[in-house]
This record gives sequence, structure tokens and C-alpha cells, in this order.
Amino acid sequence: MVTSPLCTRCGENDETLFHCLRDCRFSKVVWEKIGFFNHNFFSTNAVHIWLHDGASSSCSTLFLSGLWWIWRQRNLMCLGNETLPLPQLCSNIDSLKVSINTAYNSTPSAPTLDRFIRWNNNNFQCIILNVDGSCSGDPIRTGYGGVIRNNTGGFISAFSGDINHSQDILFAELSALYHDITLAIGLNYDEVACYSNSLLTVNLVKEELNQFHVYAVLIQNIKDLLNPRNYSLHHSLREGNQCADCLAKLGASNNEAFTIHNSPPETFSLFYKRMK
Ligand SMILES: [Zn+2]
Repeated sequence: MVTSPLCTRCGENDETLFHCLRDCRFSKVVWEKIGFFNHNFFSTNAVHIWLHDGASSSCSTLFLSGLWWIWRQRNLMCLGNETLPLPQLCSNIDSLKVSINTAYNSTPSAPTLDRFIRWNNNNFQCIILNVDGSCSGDPIRTGYGGVIRNNTGGFISAFSGDINHSQDILFAELSALYHDITLAIGLNYDEVACYSNSLLTVNLVKEELNQFHVYAVLIQNIKDLLNPRNYSLHHSLREGNQCADCLAKLGASNNEAFTIHNSPPETFSLFYKRMK
């Protein structure tokens, strides 16, 4: 929110959309430098028509790249108090134009190779945890689950649970992680590698805590469990995390808030059948 409608760059006119992107002297000089200097370009006063004409002209990528960098330049000046020299700005516009053109004109890439993914210990010689959350169906059901295995994949323990007060997958993922770590601590494991296929969850726990995050308390609780121990957290691809996914779906499918499975639950037989 600003107190004055005046353009913060030139202070000469109100910062309308046109002034900001085209008519301000800081914008106009860029347009002229990259080749837009005909009278019509600066005289149109309908934003939609101006944008449409620019984006459908023969130099549309140059126009759009110019638009983007003029906006960036404006923000750098107004918010960051810095300016890019004109040659640098023109060079950025040209690079962006080339990137866009390359993206649309590239020849078909080489056929992708199949990559086979499965659970593995990634050379960890410790206890391995896999966790997952689930949020699906109509009405939406939320659940979480996790499994504890030894480093050769042998089943040790698992849990699943229903979350009836939230329909947020992130909450389910974080809850799964919290409960699996708690379970491993209860079983007195000194060294543990935890896997989640939610990259967001992994990053939230590993990075510095944002105290305003809606789940800041839960994230801090997880950090407090992990930090004093030889417990590490890693991202897993979804395909390597399927047993945890099964448990999360199992958790969402009944009303039990928390169930510990001391033997592999029936739902895992799906995988044995598939392997046979
Ligand atoms: Zn201005």
C-alpha cells in the first residue's frame, strides 16, 4: 500500500499499468533500445489490445521478454533500490527471448529411458523408516502411516491412523513423520534413516523453521526429536515408498486414530501378489 499514486521511479505521472510497463521514461528507453519505436506502439491506449498485438506479432517473444524484464526492472528499483544498467537489461531480454524460442523450436528429445524404482536402504546400515500421508476420496478422508524396517527390508513394525479433523495432505505427511520417529524412539533405535516422498515435508523439517508456518509447532516437534539423535531425513520417490502409502490409505479407510501393526498388514499382500 502506498500513500501516493505517483510513479516511484520518475515521480512524473500516476503509475497506471501503461505508465508502469510502457510510458515511464525508464520503460520507454528499454522498448526503444530493443526496437519498439513506432508511433502506434506508444499511442494505443487499450491495454488488452496492446498486449494482444504485441503477443501475436512476428516479434512476440521479444515483446514478452521485454515486458517481463521491464517489470523486473521496475520491481528492482521500487522494492530493492537497485537498477540494472540498460545494456545488462537488453542482454537479459535477449537471453530470455532465445530461451523461449529454443523451448518452442527444439527438436524432439531422445526417448526417455525407463528408470526402475524400488525401496532400498541407500547404503544405510541402520533402521529405515518410510512415512506417508493420504488425502483422497469423496468425501475426503485423511490418513497417515509408516513402516519400520531393518536395512535389508525386513519388517519390524508399522502404524496407520485416521485424521478426522484435517483435510490437508501436508498435515498428514508431517503427522506420519512425527509418529514414525516417536515409534522408532520407543523401540530404542539409535540410528535411523527416515524417508518421506513429500519433498515439502523434508524441506520444512531440514530448513530453518518459519515461525509463522501454520504447522510450526509440529515441525519444531519433529526437529526436536531428530536433532539430538543420529536420525536423518531423506526424500524418497513415491515408487520407493509404497508400503507407507498403503498404510496411509489404510489409516484413512477406518476410524482408528492410531493402530500399531506388529506384523505386516494384509494390505501388503498386494505387493507379494504383484511380484509373483
Ligand atoms: Zn514513471
